[in-house]
Amino acid sequence: MNQQPEPPSWHLETKLVHAGERTTTPKATPTTTPIYTTTTYLYPSLADLDAAFATGEGYLYTRYGNPTVTALEQAITIAEAGRGAVAYGSGMAALHGALLAAATPRGETAPRPGLILAARDLYGSTMVLLEELFAARGTPVVYADLCDPDAAAEAIATHKPALLLVETLSNPLLRVAHVAELAAHCRAVGARLVVDGTLTTPILLRPLSLGADLVVHSATKYLGGHGDVAGGLVVARSSLLLANLVRQSRLLGASLGPFEAQQILRGMKTLALRMERQCANAHRIAHFLAEHAAISTVYYPGLATHPGHAQAQQSFGTHAGALVSCELRGGPSAVAPFVDALRLFLPATTLGDIYSLVSVPALASHRELTPLQRAERGISDSLVRLSIGIEAAEDLIADLAQALA
Ligand code: PLP
Repeated sequence: MNQQPEPPSWHLETKLVHAGERTTTPKATPTTTPIYTTTTYLYPSLADLDAAFATGEGYLYTRYGNPTVTALEQAITIAEAGRGAVAYGSGMAALHGALLAAATPRGETAPRPGLILAARDLYGSTMVLLEELFAARGTPVVYADLCDPDAAAEAIATHKPALLLVETLSNPLLRVAHVAELAAHCRAVGARLVVDGTLTTPILLRPLSLGADLVVHSATKYLGGHGDVAGGLVVARSSLLLANLVRQSRLLGASLGPFEAQQILRGMKTLALRMERQCANAHRIAHFLAEHAAISTVYYPGLATHPGHAQAQQSFGTHAGALVSCELRGGPSAVAPFVDALRLFLPATTLGDIYSLVSVPALASHRELTPLQRAERGISDSLVRLSIGIEAAEDLIADLAQALA
């Protein structure tokens, strides 16, 4: 097809359009995955193109697959010990894709409106997604405290959901899910378990090995890690769910671009090192805050006072994540002076970066909830969430101390 060297009779402008493209690929393998910016692929003949469509083998069009994105999907599949993964343009798109795939019964291609049992403690936009794209269109959505094993068992037995959605470590109160127990209850009623593992990453927890069906990541957070890329990933435990994800992601069209895939892939190479440092820093900061007179409550599962402490130790081992939330004793009016006085913590609406960040959930991650919904979830106006970075712990503690003073 169009891979022949150009005839010498072509005009200069024609030659300029095609010159340099479709040269032979290097014989030696590049050490790192190249960024494939091509949207489409050429086959030697129409019959070969038709065969590629028919078998699903080979790249056709970038929304269907891209070698750089595949490399990232392979990396997260290995990290999570899954069957395969699909990359999306954001964590929200990944959650949407995961919910659609999990709501699609075996042998069918379209999702069915079976009941979704969702954790009460979820990132704010996840709840809005459930409300506006599922509940408002006829899929029943029920919320329960899925981090309390008894409440979870009762809710699953009562509602017999088609699928369950829970965060391994919840944003922002850091409640801990008992993934293996939830998976066992789900199996008993034939429900699929979808787990948002953004805050734990595969370094702290590998939910598929505990029986979860799909694990979702906002790669914008720890996997990317540097505050410079947005993306989402879903890893499937079975080939059936993987096929649902692939098919539906082609229709959703929220595919990840190759530049972003390369950045996330690079971020993942240092994920273990960053998590080690960030979790160790968080541990020191949580202890500092727990003893500070200006702080009334610290939410951090590494503290013995946290209700999820024992489960965190059992599930995550020595580390308890790299977020620390706290209530200021001075109440809501103390929040702005504290945040504005911080010099090293950046007041930015994300988490998981190498930079330490501060945010106020009532104003940011849970802004779209009503005051009543926030109150039901224990998210007060004096709650502050700290995402701990890789800086020196001493500098971070000094910054907090001066801002609290
Ligand atoms: N899941 C959790 C736990 C989050 O905290 C977020 C964002 O903050 C998301 C999903 C959504 O990710 P994204 O912002 O990449 O769409």
